[in-house]
Amino acid sequence: MIITANIAGAGLGGLASALALSKIGVRVSVFEQALALTEVGAGIQLSSNAMHVARWLGIDDQVIRVGFEPETALIRDYRTGKRYMNAPLTDMCQRRYGAPYIHIHRADLLMILTEAAVKAGVVIETGADVQGYDASRDRAAFLLGEGLSADADLLIGADGLGSKVREQMLGAEAPEFTGQVAWRGLIPAHILPDGLVAPGATVWAGPGRHFVTYYVRGGDLVNIVAVEERADWRDESWTHPGDPAALRTVFDGWHPDVTTLIDHLDQCFLWALFGRKPLPTWSDGPVALLGDACHPMLPFMAQGAAMAFEDAFVLAKCVEANPSLTSALQRYEDLRKPRATKIQAKARANADLFHMNGLRAKASLHAASLLPARTALAPLDWIYGFDPTQQPTGAGWRSVT
Ligand SMILES: Cc1cc2nc3c(=O)[nH]c(=O)nc-3n(C[C@H](O)[C@H](O)[C@H](O)COP(=O)(O)OP(=O)(O)OC[C@H]3O[C@@H](n4cnc5c(N)ncnc54)[C@H](O)[C@@H]3O)c2cc1C
Repeated sequence: MIITANIAGAGLGGLASALALSKIGVRVSVFEQALALTEVGAGIQLSSNAMHVARWLGIDDQVIRVGFEPETALIRDYRTGKRYMNAPLTDMCQRRYGAPYIHIHRADLLMILTEAAVKAGVVIETGADVQGYDASRDRAAFLLGEGLSADADLLIGADGLGSKVREQMLGAEAPEFTGQVAWRGLIPAHILPDGLVAPGATVWAGPGRHFVTYYVRGGDLVNIVAVEERADWRDESWTHPGDPAALRTVFDGWHPDVTTLIDHLDQCFLWALFGRKPLPTWSDGPVALLGDACHPMLPFMAQGAAMAFEDAFVLAKCVEANPSLTSALQRYEDLRKPRATKIQAKARANADLFHMNGLRAKASLHAASLLPARTALAPLDWIYGFDPTQQPTGAGWRSVT
């Protein structure tokens, strides 16, 4: 059994894995490059599969308390407003999957994870830039610059898309621009006309772009994510402040519910969406990757953080159940990679569906509109209905995708 673990990155994946490892008795330190723990002002969806992990981590009550439980999942036509899908989310998730589906402000989720981790004894060092690792000695260590290092039995790279831990493990390779950018913003619900935003997760689908709305903070704020296809991204940084007036132009001619919402937006951010092909391996001796560091994905299934939560649980349980660290990390990769890879592909495929690319996408939307509401989510059972906390993680069990 390992005694100590160091984690690079205090994002949602790093903190969830810190909490998970501390729950099985590992002493954990987290090294975060930023000077303070902050999250972009935007929302995040935690589907039932992630909420099972939240329950095991002991944070689900808080997440539910400060989040928002959507009643329905809607897909609507960008111009006419026609409903292609209108599935009863609250009912389906609780009854069918055994855990709720929650929308939450990212800063609130980060705060809940940070407080729980600190309470569990996790040490978080900010302003600590992990530049690489040394796994050649008896105990592996993160290299922190200026000759400083931090050793532990287990090292985890949860340092996101541009992971330096991944770079050392597999070589320098820039992530690929996916041809999509996302605008994100929050609007106080009280300034919006009554009934403008449905109490659900709504995707407005249209040619070459889509627009997502949902409530966070108990319904006080409306989160918007607006995605647009672009040929390239020349900016060096992946994110910068966006101009609501420019966003309004991009969605000109869309349904008045969408344009009215944009008219109420004061501030937004623009993100370029990058991805990577599945990696050949997720570990090197006692060093493992987790979350966006090993499987970044388009947000079109809202599963990136959910996958990091699943990783966190499975990694901790593999460490607990497998006698050697090498076999534990191999087991973790064997269990997680097929599912994460399949969801990466599904998220990419949703770009075509939401952007009405081709006859197949239009036929799928039409077919979805004919399904009874109660069965509309059934094709996603393998994602939302998966409860990682009920799966064995010791040797001899095969991955469920
Ligand atoms: C528009 C958009 C909407 C999304 N919506 C959803 C959603 O609804 N549901 C969902 O599940 N997912 C969603 N996602 C995906 C989700 O945000 C990510 O998958 C998730 O945040 C990944 O967490 P992470 O901890 O792996 O990486 P990150 O959140 O990127 O965290 C990495 C951390 O590592 C730190 N770091 C980086 N380099 C170093 C270093 N060298 N040394 C030390 N620290 C370092 C960073 O500062 C950061 O704190 C969305 C993503 C986008 C872009």
